[in-house]
Amino acid sequence: MSDALPTESAKTRQMVVNGTTVPFADATVHLMSPAMRYGLNVFEGLRGYWNDDERQLYIFRLQEHLERFDQSIRLLRFKAEFRMDAIADATLGLLRADNHRANCHIRTTAYLDGIGEHHVTGPVSWMVYAGPRPRGKKVESGIAAHVSTWRRMSDNALPPRIKCGANYANARLARFQAQIDGYDDAIMLNDEGKVGEGPGACIFIVRKNKLITPSVTSGILESITRDTILTLAQDRGISIEERAVDRTELYASDEAFFAGSAAEVLPIISIDRLPVGSGAVGPVTSLLQKDYFDAVEGRGNLEKSWLTPVWNT
Ligand code: PMP
Repeated sequence: MSDALPTESAKTRQMVVNGTTVPFADATVHLMSPAMRYGLNVFEGLRGYWNDDERQLYIFRLQEHLERFDQSIRLLRFKAEFRMDAIADATLGLLRADNHRANCHIRTTAYLDGIGEHHVTGPVSWMVYAGPRPRGKKVESGIAAHVSTWRRMSDNALPPRIKCGANYANARLARFQAQIDGYDDAIMLNDEGKVGEGPGACIFIVRKNKLITPSVTSGILESITRDTILTLAQDRGISIEERAVDRTELYASDEAFFAGSAAEVLPIISIDRLPVGSGAVGPVTSLLQKDYFDAVEGRGNLEKSWLTPVWNT
């Protein structure tokens, strides 16, 4: 579920920095920048999906990612001089320049550049990176999760709604604890002790045929995949509850899954070593996972408005 790290092949790629295409090696930031010193950057992680029948690469929900990006910039009081149109153009330009014709991941970041303290408002730079990203290995088999002892940071402290790099120090603590203790990933409670989200994805459970997910006021990122899943579930006539979720509802659930741009729809088959439902991937999860893959890859009649085509032919 973690973002692919720059590999050797990444080093041969290009990136767009402040609208200029530069070699990967030249996309650098100063050690005394607020971005470096305080983790003052906001970002989006998007996926591009290759549709082989149409010979087309689709960026999934680019518009919604850019709206959230803009909101993160504003809420963190970055004084950005650029427009979201420039980011969209750069993203398309980069994917074309690097001839992306396979599933990929796009990283878009705005950061406090130059040299300064944590309270400066600029200069704000931005960058776009795109690299290959195959589907995660466990989307079919599912994962073992636990409930972390680390709490998700609160809306009143470091709001998860703002997708800021610094938030991922909190995610890191939970992810490490989970993995050291032998789980694949963590489920974090919010500061009220209710279910929040994973370190890098939102969470859904299924109980008695109802699809349940913490509300957006539960101290979580307003996930675009969460919104997508809710729309797909609605289209299927599945009943939905967005509300506070108790920890014990996790154990009482018939099905559970993480959802996120990187995670996609990732079944959770045990929580704190208790099997979720039968301990196998459940029918609602499978159905929504299939619908999700169809939607992102542009199959069927699902919401083409979510897709931005990269290639003209
Ligand atoms: N929560 C957290 C903490 C995340 O990092 C992510 C991934 N961006 C998500 C939820 C899912 O958000 P989205 O569906 O917009 O990718």
